[in-house]
Amino acid sequence: MHIGKGLLTYEEYLRQEKRVINIAETAGVVIDGFYCCPHRMTPCECRKPLPGMVNQAKSSYDIDISNSYVFGDMGCSDMLLAHHIGSKSILVRTGVGEGSLTAFRHTWADVEPTFIADNILEAVKMAIYE
Ligand SMILES: [Zn+2]
Repeated sequence: MHIGKGLLTYEEYLRQEKRVINIAETAGVVIDGFYCCPHRMTPCECRKPLPGMVNQAKSSYDIDISNSYVFGDMGCSDMLLAHHIGSKSILVRTGVGEGSLTAFRHTWADVEPTFIADNILEAVKMAIYE
């Protein structure tokens, strides 16, 4: 979305992607793929809560979506995406997560996250040890 709005260049996105890969590799984590929506059109099929990026990943990897998690702080995009694709979900209270649970709860009122976590570390532990 930021690329499509001109707030971030694709080159800067790639630099940030590389930075995340380096941090993950240092921690012994392998990231299989990255997906982004650089498109300007709205709504774009690859922009959450629509499933385009998940469908791209599914075409490249054998993913058991019903046993996978969507993590995020935004109910109206992350939690709705999880609902649309039939995955589990964890809403983190950091970022805009607390607001998603209060002032903006009406924007995703029909959906319940599988778990609510205080932060991403707690969310990862919930996913691993559920
Ligand atoms: Zn897109």
